Amino acid sequence: MKRILVTGGAGFIGTHLCKRLLNEGNKVICLDDYSSGSKDNIIHLLDNPNFELVQHDVTIPFFIEVDEIYNLACPASPVQYQNDPIKTIKTSVMGAINMLDLAQRIGAKILQASTSEVYGDPNIHPQPETYWGNVNPIGSRACYDEGKRCAESLFVNYHKQNNVRIKIVRIFNTYGPNMLTNDGRVVSNFIVQAFRNKPITIYGDGCQTRSFQYVDDLVDGLIRMMNTSDEVIGPINIGNPDEFTILELAKKVIELTGSNSWIEFRELPEDDPMQRKPDISKAIEMLGGWSPKIDLKTGLLNTIDYFKKIIVR
Ligand code: UDP
Repeated sequence: MKRILVTGGAGFIGTHLCKRLLNEGNKVICLDDYSSGSKDNIIHLLDNPNFELVQHDVTIPFFIEVDEIYNLACPASPVQYQNDPIKTIKTSVMGAINMLDLAQRIGAKILQASTSEVYGDPNIHPQPETYWGNVNPIGSRACYDEGKRCAESLFVNYHKQNNVRIKIVRIFNTYGPNMLTNDGRVVSNFIVQAFRNKPITIYGDGCQTRSFQYVDDLVDGLIRMMNTSDEVIGPINIGNPDEFTILELAKKVIELTGSNSWIEFRELPEDDPMQRKPDISKAIEMLGGWSPKIDLKTGLLNTIDYFKKIIVR
């Protein structure tokens, strides 16, 4: 049995990861300050004697003995991370330093949840890990993008300078059950709007693209990455390369929910990337048989089922 720390464990991805690690027979310690996670998503796991929940902000040092650390703590939806940009930078940067210091002290392996946002508004498509990105350092997304880029740099330097065993994954757009209804990301927004028969709000003309990955495929990739040999440090893209326009997504959600909602166009936020699609050849090569298994329709139906249960019409 391994002892595993998951920071941001009460967030959308964290809850799925904690559950899966517990099911595989590990002891899981979930750290979260509930700033963008929800205790409701995770509280049912407390029945499991191998699960511990600790309310803690990663910008403050934390000490525990574990074998592995998954560093997920950071608000990840544009609405949430732009709400308190300074705190977002602190969470990425100070959180990374605190967790890397911990990993170094106790000899744990540590995985950083980085992001496709390190590529900014990319002018190379699809995005391979070798691409350095196109990020506006003073734009409204910079608190997240640059915070995560700095965290990657910290991880690589703790590895080179202090021999910490690190893994970096760049996570592309992910969706699924346990997203918050007010999360602000496109999939949850559209499904919630559809169930409430409210307008589906498309920012810009809806021609911008994203490639949507179902959360189970991501969790599978994260665990496989953690289990690779010490030479594999990444960064490695984890995502689903099936690419859709936001307009296509809106139409799909309306169709699958059977909603009477209509589409309304709103202003495009600053620095909103025009296109995004992962090159996943490295993940396929390095992660022992991993590839995304769940297509958009199947994943959306599961997610719609989840929201149906929690939304009162
Ligand atoms: N978007 C939209 N309507 C919404 C929420 C988002 O059209 O209600 C667009 C957003 O402008 C972006 C894309 O959907 O182009 C994906 O946005 P999201 O916030 O999910 O994540 P991002 O990939 O931009 O970080």
